Amino acid sequence: MKKVLFIDRDGILMEEPEDEQIDQLDKVQFLPGMFSYLRDIVEKLDYVLVMITNQDGLGTSSYPESNFWPFHELLLRSLRGEGIVFDEICIDRSFAKDNSPYRKPNTGMLTKYIEGQYDLKNSFVIGDRWSDMQLASNLGCGGIWLNKRETERAGNWRDSIVCDAKDWKTVFEFLIRKERKANAVRITNETQISGSINLDGSGIAEIKTGLNFLDHMLDQICKHGSMDLFLQVNGDLEVDEHHTFEDVAIVLGGLLKQALGKKAGITRYGYALPMDDCKAQVLLDFGGRPWIEWDVIFNRERIGDVPTEMFYHFFKSFSDHAQCNLNIKAEGENEHHKIEAIFKAFAKALKMAKEKSQFDYSIPSTKGSL
Ligand SMILES: [Mg+2]
Repeated sequence: MKKVLFIDRDGILMEEPEDEQIDQLDKVQFLPGMFSYLRDIVEKLDYVLVMITNQDGLGTSSYPESNFWPFHELLLRSLRGEGIVFDEICIDRSFAKDNSPYRKPNTGMLTKYIEGQYDLKNSFVIGDRWSDMQLASNLGCGGIWLNKRETERAGNWRDSIVCDAKDWKTVFEFLIRKERKANAVRITNETQISGSINLDGSGIAEIKTGLNFLDHMLDQICKHGSMDLFLQVNGDLEVDEHHTFEDVAIVLGGLLKQALGKKAGITRYGYALPMDDCKAQVLLDFGGRPWIEWDVIFNRERIGDVPTEMFYHFFKSFSDHAQCNLNIKAEGENEHHKIEAIFKAFAKALKMAKEKSQFDYSIPSTKGSL
């Protein structure tokens, strides 16, 4: 589902004059950094752009059309010159006293975005007035408050604010950080799993799969992969460990795929070679194709509370759902060390492959997509 940025015009793209009407050339002033950060948002992130603006009394004698369009067209032309094109521009012409269903903060002009084809939970309204923050609340979006003045001016809608910004740089950095998170809920007759991931986290793990050893291994992924992972699993362990193990890998693979998004700017590949009596090697490629090579032999049937045969199955399921290539090899004496080394090497490989360049946002493939 597509995410949307609903962007206010006056005070956000252009400075708002005292009399609140941009109707003369000397009132046209673009917000500092607006063009460059919006261009970065268009190039690097994946949002539909919708401009939504109240223009009180546009077309009446108090605000003739001829005073509006030349400056609005100048804005659009200037944006186009930077590669910034709005998918839709919604202009309401009523006055506040009319209480029109189409006027912000009402959503009359935005029904198509509410009807299910768009991911509004992960969408945002960028605005400088309380009505923008109320619009965010009405749409079920987050509010990005871009205003040099105090947040108090957001009135009763302060709770809708997820980013309190004084400039476009802060807005861009907030959106970039947001980008690499994902949530999932997967429910079958065998397991019920809810999970979330933050690829740019600090190693926080809140994991309860019902299998202590699996929890311990997933902790390794968070710690050594520098990502935050929340997983709550209710599986049919009374049958055996199989469904829980497999479905955790399916959800984890799906979370990674979702959080990586377009994969623009990622390193794509990762590898590692650790530890003690064991040598473990995990080669990884987020190339978009599932594949696994598995060169590991366990001499014990179980480690902790899980059967060793489930480890291959875990990585195979992960590879299928993250759509990545995994080439895993390990040898050594101690079976616990062997699998822990594999999970740590896997974490390091993930950490390297997911790293994103601050400067290069091209897709790391000559095909142009992954
Ligand atoms: Mg405004």
